Amino acid sequence: MAAGQTPVLALDVGGTKLAAGVVGSDGVTHSFVVRPSRTELGVDAVLDDLFALGREAVEQSGVPWTAVEAVGIGCGGPLDAERGILIAPPHLPGWRDVPINELALRAFERPVTLENDATAAAAGEHRWGAGAGARHMVYLTISTGVGGGVVIDGSLYRGASGNGGELGHVTVDWRGRRCRGCGRLGCLEAYVSGTSIAERAREAGLPHATSEEVAAAARDGDPAARELWEETVEALACGLISIVNLFEPELVVLGGGVTRSGAFLLDPVRAAVREGAMRPAGEAVDVVLSPLGDRVGVLGAAAIVYDRAATGDVPANG
Ligand SMILES: [Zn+2]
Repeated sequence: MAAGQTPVLALDVGGTKLAAGVVGSDGVTHSFVVRPSRTELGVDAVLDDLFALGREAVEQSGVPWTAVEAVGIGCGGPLDAERGILIAPPHLPGWRDVPINELALRAFERPVTLENDATAAAAGEHRWGAGAGARHMVYLTISTGVGGGVVIDGSLYRGASGNGGELGHVTVDWRGRRCRGCGRLGCLEAYVSGTSIAERAREAGLPHATSEEVAAAARDGDPAARELWEETVEALACGLISIVNLFEPELVVLGGGVTRSGAFLLDPVRAAVREGAMRPAGEAVDVVLSPLGDRVGVLGAAAIVYDRAATGDVPANG
């Protein structure tokens, strides 16, 4: 089999859960396993868990180890994708300059590719999800934080060191709320992340702890929940309008836990983006929900291995 076409072991390092799977070049997940990230135990314990989970994914996949030629890892930034180093991911407290590629290479004896998880998810969405075939696409993941990725002319845009496409830190109100992700004021993330929705719910005296609960209360007509939800929709549309004006994508794909509220979020956001973005980009763009669900992280981590293989940019084994 040609390099880059054999199954890949894909690892997704999140602040609340670790996920692993063996993914074929057709996007079929031969296995998918998840366990909580025990970040309180420190770097070594989490990496031991991650690598054990990777081995478990291979065992469960039915794919022989010898057929798995590469490992892809998706993790929140900031990171140095080329050198394979996690610089200081805020969702992994205490992790500083962790050489994750080197450690994974030692554990699996396979070449390792690292990518920002949201950028990787965009690659997965573009290769196998709603964005398959799109030339110009934006992916936005709305969960604990907000991240994203941009596909320009069929290729993933990565930026100078692989940290580009930080769509969650587009400013929607320059005198607005403090962003927990980057510390600036008024980022998109400071309004639409699950964390922000829960925080604003608390400030408004609502008893709801999650974005899903706030959405349900808003749907049931609770005035305070409705106001909070409308603000969330407006902020998301505001950020997306800037992004659509900037890139003129054919397609915007929304993923992440907050999008579980489905059409209640999507429909007003899509209408506002089409209305608000400049012509003709606004009329032409479609906004859809990710079909990949919880597997998007693992599919993304696999997609970056195939993407880099296609561009000849895969680290040598050893
Ligand atoms: Zn920010």
